Amino acid sequence: MPELPEVETVRRALAGQVVGRTIRQVRVHRPDTIDLPGNPTTTNPTAANAAAGLNGPIVAGSACSSTGSDTLQGAANRLLCGQRISGVVRHGKQLAWWTEPSGAPTTTHKTGKTKRKNSASGYGELGKHAGWPAVGVHLGMTGCLRVFDGGRGCERGRADRMRAEWGGHTHITWELDDGLTIAFQDPRRFGHVWVFATGEQLRAHRWAGLGPDALTITGEELHRRLGRTRRAIKAALLDQSLVAGLGNIYTDELLHVCRVHPRAPAASLSVRRTKRLADGARTLLAEAIEHGGSTLRDYADPLGQPGAFQAHHAVYARHGQACPRCQSKLSVTRVASRTTTYCSHCQRK
Ligand SMILES: [Zn+2]
Repeated sequence: MPELPEVETVRRALAGQVVGRTIRQVRVHRPDTIDLPGNPTTTNPTAANAAAGLNGPIVAGSACSSTGSDTLQGAANRLLCGQRISGVVRHGKQLAWWTEPSGAPTTTHKTGKTKRKNSASGYGELGKHAGWPAVGVHLGMTGCLRVFDGGRGCERGRADRMRAEWGGHTHITWELDDGLTIAFQDPRRFGHVWVFATGEQLRAHRWAGLGPDALTITGEELHRRLGRTRRAIKAALLDQSLVAGLGNIYTDELLHVCRVHPRAPAASLSVRRTKRLADGARTLLAEAIEHGGSTLRDYADPLGQPGAFQAHHAVYARHGQACPRCQSKLSVTRVASRTTTYCSHCQRK
């Protein structure tokens, strides 16, 4: 499953390609991928998918109203067609983009060819435009957002080959005014897309239950949150409501970096050790983002580039091998039902 570094890599690549572009057409191949209030696919997804399959994808063009009725067509319309993508934002492992509603004051955008400086997740930007419509995306296990160039042959997505490989798993596409297409693809279908009339609704309904982002949480905040749980530190760090963005890979790596045993009671960690965890998370995640995240099976960014950070994993899935720090043999156990690799010599309770 993509964790914070992979989702942030997707966000940066996507932002560099699509911000400032207008969505000309939306095609929905699997209506039950979308969730929005009143969407009949939420209550009867099988029938909706069957209908879509019989009649081809549901298509919404730029002339569509963004406030369509509660029909499948309305659902497609509300995926923001006709509107201009203003920003791409991430919180934890969740991704969203928001658009300028028609009639909003014109904003100057950098073009897709401009490399945008992304030092943060864009979360603060969402706050400035909380009243603007938003699409939320959860990639789930195998979900991805790819940017195709319509077969023009540039590096963007290596369109033809990927379309052939992934075509059957493309559930929604957004076609943009410059010929690019964003495709939401998800072979195992644990991913999902939400549509919100405002970014404020996105935060209230989807993101309110998430803890602070693992890239920015302070040691004090982490210590306060860990102090409330009786769980092992690894289980606590995996809990997205406590801190958002860490999964099995980066939790194992972080605990090794900070020399904390995965079964250490979370509440027992001192302020100093907790601060080291928060600082360590920031450094580890930033380094992973610099490498484009980790590709273990099929993760790739919107341009089709796999991550390279898996070559830098110290412990994850390396049980039986030597600890890179002390050369002891790495151990494996299960914590929170997850396979956990650690060094029994370096990592102490
Ligand atoms: Zn060791």
